[in-house]
Order: sequence, then C-alpha cells, then structure tokens
Amino acid sequence: MPIEATLGSIGRMNQTVEPSHHHLPAAFMRRLRRILPADGLLQKSTEVAAYECDGLPVYRARPRAVALPRIAAEVGQVLALCAEYQVPVVARGAGTGLSGGALPHPEGIVLSLARMNRILALDPDNRTARLEPGVRNLAVSEAARSHGLFYAPDPSSQIACTIGGNVAENAGGVHCLKYGLTTHNILALKFFDADGALHEIGGPTGEWPLDLAALLTGSEGLLGVVVEATVRLWPKPPSTVAYLAAFRSLEAAAASVSEVVALGLVPAGLELMDGLALSAAQAYTGIAYPEGSAAVVLAEVDGDDLTVALEGERLRAIFTAQGAFAVEQAVSDEDRRRLWLGRKSAFPAVGRLAPDYYCMDGTIPRRSLVAVLTEIGELSRRYGLPVANVFHAGDGNLHPLILYDAAIQGQLEQVEALGADILRLCLVHGGTISGEHGVGVEKLDGMCAQFTAAELATFHALKSAFDPHHLLNPGKAVPTPARCVEAGGMHVHGGHQPFPHLERF
Ligand SMILES: Cc1cc2nc3c(=O)[nH]c(=O)nc-3n(C[C@H](O)[C@H](O)[C@H](O)COP(=O)(O)OP(=O)(O)OC[C@H]3O[C@@H](n4cnc5c(N)ncnc54)[C@H](O)[C@@H]3O)c2cc1C
Repeated sequence: MPIEATLGSIGRMNQTVEPSHHHLPAAFMRRLRRILPADGLLQKSTEVAAYECDGLPVYRARPRAVALPRIAAEVGQVLALCAEYQVPVVARGAGTGLSGGALPHPEGIVLSLARMNRILALDPDNRTARLEPGVRNLAVSEAARSHGLFYAPDPSSQIACTIGGNVAENAGGVHCLKYGLTTHNILALKFFDADGALHEIGGPTGEWPLDLAALLTGSEGLLGVVVEATVRLWPKPPSTVAYLAAFRSLEAAAASVSEVVALGLVPAGLELMDGLALSAAQAYTGIAYPEGSAAVVLAEVDGDDLTVALEGERLRAIFTAQGAFAVEQAVSDEDRRRLWLGRKSAFPAVGRLAPDYYCMDGTIPRRSLVAVLTEIGELSRRYGLPVANVFHAGDGNLHPLILYDAAIQGQLEQVEALGADILRLCLVHGGTISGEHGVGVEKLDGMCAQFTAAELATFHALKSAFDPHHLLNPGKAVPTPARCVEAGGMHVHGGHQPFPHLERF
C-alpha cells in the first residue's frame, strides 16, 4: 500500500502508526536475516521505535523491521529480496531530514546505511574522496584537512547527517553560494535500483554524456539506494575573512543581501538571522551580538589576499550604505568559528524558545527578499505564532521557523496553515516550495501547486523507469493526480492563473 494512501492516518505527535496486522512472510524474514550480519536486523518494537520518524517528528510510523547492512553487496541482496516479496523499502542515513523523507512505511522495512561509514579513498592529487553512504558530512572535511582540502557542501546538520542523505536531498549549506550544492560536488555514484541491480554513473573527472548523477541527486530515495559517492574536494583558500553586519531593521538587512547579489559579488557565504534568532543564539552560545540588532547578515569572502581584501571592502561599503550600524570582521580561524557558531547552532537555539518549532524551507528570487520577509512578519502576527528567520539569504533559500506548542489543541494545524501560506508566498514571488529539505511527505500538496500535471507525469515516468513496482520510498515526493485533485487542482503555467488551487494547500 503506498504510504500516501495512509497519509491521513500517519501519526501526529505521539500517535505512531503501528504496522498493520499483515505480517511479512516468515520466509522473507528468514532470508533477510541470512543476508545481514548477526546484529544487522532489528525487529522488536522497542528497537525499531528509534526509526519511526526523521527530523520532522509530526509524522511517525513504525516499520516492520530495520536492516543494517555493513557492505554494499548486502544492500543489493536486501533490495532483490524486497523486490521478490514486493516489500516497500525506505533508505535512511542519519534521520536528520526535515520533510519526512525517511519516514518508515508501516508495511515495509527501513534500510539503514548508517553502518556503511568508511572513507574508502582520499586522493589529494585529484582532490576527490570515495565514500560509503553512511559517512558523516563533517567527517569528510575532517579527513581532508591534513591535505589542505575540504568538502564544501556544509548543511548545519553536518555533524550528524550522512553523504547518502545529502545526495538524496541535494543538501545545501552556508558555503554552497560559491561552491555549489551537493549536486555540483558529486563526481560519481554507485547505487542499487529497486531490483537490486548495481549501477555506476559518472567518473573520477565527473564527465559523462548523460548527467544521471544530477537525476539521482535530490531524488529522495525514490530511484535507488546510493552505496558509494565520489565527491569533489576543494583546496582550502589561502585567506578567509568573515563579516557580521548589524542592522536596526530586518528589511534593511534583507535589502543589503539583494544589493550584494545585484552588484555581482559571490561571497563564500551570505546568511541572515533576524532578531528572534539572534536572541536565541545569544542565549544558547553566549555570543554577544551588537546591542540593538534587529537582524544581522553574516558574510564570508575567501581566496587570495588581494581578492579577499577587495571583496571585503566592497561588502563593507554595501552594508554601510544599506544602513548597517556595525560591521565586525573575523580573520583568525577561532574568531570565524565563533562568528559562525551562532548561525550553525540557530536551529537548536530557537528550539529552546518554545516547546516545538516547525522549520519551513522555500526559495524566492533574491530581489524579493524584503517583500517576502515583510509579508511573513504580517502572517506571523495574523496567526499569532512567532516566526524566527535564519537562512541562506544569498541563495534566496528561506527557513522560517514557526514556534508553537503541539500540546495545545489545534495549534499544529494552525502552524501548517501558516506554513502553507508562506510557501504560497514563495510561489507567488516566482520561487519554489523546497530549497534543500526536500518534499518527503510534508510537501506533497505543494508539489501540486508548483508543477503541472504533465510535469508530475514525467516525474512518475522516471520513477517507474527505476522502480517499476514503486517499492522505494513509495508515495513520497511526487503526488498522485488523485491527490492533486483533492488538494484543489494542478498548477497551470502562463502566469494568468491566480493560483486558485492553492486555496486548500
Ligand atoms: C538542525 C538541522 C539543520 C539542518 N540544516 C540543513 C542545511 O543547512 N542544509 C540542508 O540541506 N539540510 C539541512 N538539514 C536537513 C538534513 O540534515 C538534510 O536533508 C540531510 O541531507 C539529511 O541527511 P540524513 O543522512 O540525515 O538523511 P535521512 O534523513 O536519513 O534521509 C533523507 C532522505 O534521503 C534518503 N536516503 C538516505 N540515505 C540514502 C541513500 N544512501 N540512498 C538513497 N536515499 C537515501 C531517505 O530515504 C530520505 O528520503 C538540517 C536538519 C537539521 C535537523
């Protein structure tokens, strides 16, 4: 049964969907056990409970079992067995995803890649690393550091999230403005399709006639299970300077970001934190921001000394012209680390302001930053729900964090309505419903609003080409036409349609 069919009953807070009484065949379980290492199969409800959600705990479901392979061959065998018995499979890395992508299927198994965490090769001459999918993002840069290299995509969850999960979500991060997203930093992939057949795409130089790696990257576990990634490493720039520009209004901070981009500067990072995020980060990390800051922009420039000096001066001039009342500079590694710490800790810091928070993820053209942030402020007031903004401003990738208390009846529904309004704003301004956190189960209705029926049909055709029986993460990321009709209709391109179908999304 596709998970979409059960979405209405997928558990909200503390209401986990239990596996149905329909058991997986005993022969399937016997053979699964034989494939995996002795400690590689979890079945007891106390053991599988840890896998019932990802970083979006409003959706919960308990899988039949969790498979923990240690080598790629075991992954292929597990998938072949699942294909034989038509058992749904949800791949999982660290479970830090924020759209329910790793939410288990209640009639299927979770395939955890977490134990496949070896760095298979690090080639400093060619600046590449070959990685198993369970390698933590930060571990790559840690291993490359002694060679003067680093891995650029740096999601704030990098201490925990895995390369496999990064590939599946096309993860971004602070440094992706200059160095590209995950998709720009993948040279080759090995993955198993739903039948357990191994495919290799790309190569050490990243050149191939058909860019299938770009198709796999961001496919949210729907097309295949990645068992190896060859990634690009970057030489550590000789010079790096970070800036913190403090503003008395959120609008002025946002306008300065638009101006930086409009003038053609491409800093290594360009992030924005509003007043609520700042006070949370200050309380959490002890970092003191300039008194009276309504918002700060964090920027980093890197390269040779001359470039860094020139770009730094231009940035400072733009910030000042846009009304920054303080511009601080961090040169040493330690000072830069401190400056970025507040940004990197912002999500958990905001998490202390209220019992719960809901992290939104959408994109907008950077010229619309001021208008959209102003409108989000108005929506926040209208719904009576505080919203903290901390996001990749240079990429136009918003992350409004809605604060709420799930214990208050009806408040989660209010949050979802506010979230849908924010995504509608993104679309109206020419943006998208997801920047880097994916669609998962969370944004299926939003997909109906963003894409036409023909585009969604193409996505379904692609899915069927890789996974004809829809066993890999079924029901996620691409809504069925029936769901879209229920959600209020399909998107119609042309610009004259005032998004009537968004009314209910
Ligand atoms: C505090 C916090 C901060 C975050 N900051 C950022 C950020 O700055 N940028 C950003 O992009 N994201 C961010 N995220 C979201 C999340 O960390 C990323 O989406 C990350 O890439 C997920 O990796 P994971 O290993 O946890 O994957 P999981 O959550 O386990 O899985 C995510 C998806 O990938 C699929 N998957 C996992 N492994 C494989 C595999 N080997 N093959 C095929 N499919 C697979 C799963 O089925 C699922 O659909 C943040 C999350 C948190 C909690």
